[in-house]
Amino acid sequence: MTKTTREVNIVQNITEFRKELEGKDCVLVAVSKTKPAEVIMEAYEAGHRVFGENKVQELTGKYEKLPKDIEWHMIGHLQRNKVKYIAEFVSLIHSADSPRLLRAINKEGKKAGRVVPCLLQVHIAEEESKYGFDEKEILNLLENGFFEELPFVQVRGLMGMATFTDNQTQIRKEFQSLAALYHRLNERTLPENVKMEVLSMGMSGDFKIALDEGSNMVRVGSAIFGARN
Ligand SMILES: *Cc1c(COP(=O)(O)O)cnc(C)c1O
Repeated sequence: MTKTTREVNIVQNITEFRKELEGKDCVLVAVSKTKPAEVIMEAYEAGHRVFGENKVQELTGKYEKLPKDIEWHMIGHLQRNKVKYIAEFVSLIHSADSPRLLRAINKEGKKAGRVVPCLLQVHIAEEESKYGFDEKEILNLLENGFFEELPFVQVRGLMGMATFTDNQTQIRKEFQSLAALYHRLNERTLPENVKMEVLSMGMSGDFKIALDEGSNMVRVGSAIFGARN
């Protein structure tokens, strides 16, 4: 890539984010979807190791090609028949959004001989979406002993996405509702493989609000790597 087309200073961006978030005890997931390996390597060489992708094929391709000490996070909707391609290596699946998907993750975790770390994706946005649990569904699963049947799944917390809007008040309200659920769940006696230690919320446009509201993991793409095509 020539100097003139590279207007984004990835090293500077990621270094600034890393500094700011380290001080806040917040994990930065650098969302590298659509970006080529050499762009990821710039962030890697600046010391970053945690990257997020939203497509299985892209994720496995980059996993194979790039250094093995990278922690790969799956942040996009995951189809059950594709879990097998990532179960062996994925560091965290943010998008566990249905009981059937959790069962598939358990099955593939068992085959791969590893417990797969996951977050329960919660539907907090106003927009209609097929994806994500609501509180009632999670409580039902907890009360019905669902997680006890999934020894190869480790739930580490919750993930949510706010409505795509300029209305800061609304975004804040949605993050507050996710944080409140996270704290309510934490007060319960949870199964051994369900922990509330990760609250994944906030992206380029709303991570500041998310941090205010208690996020300890943000997923930032365009603010580091520049706009996607
Ligand atoms: C793309 C994506 C992000 C990052 O979005 P940016 O606005 O580029 O920071 C975060 N979370 C999910 C689930 C995504 O799909």
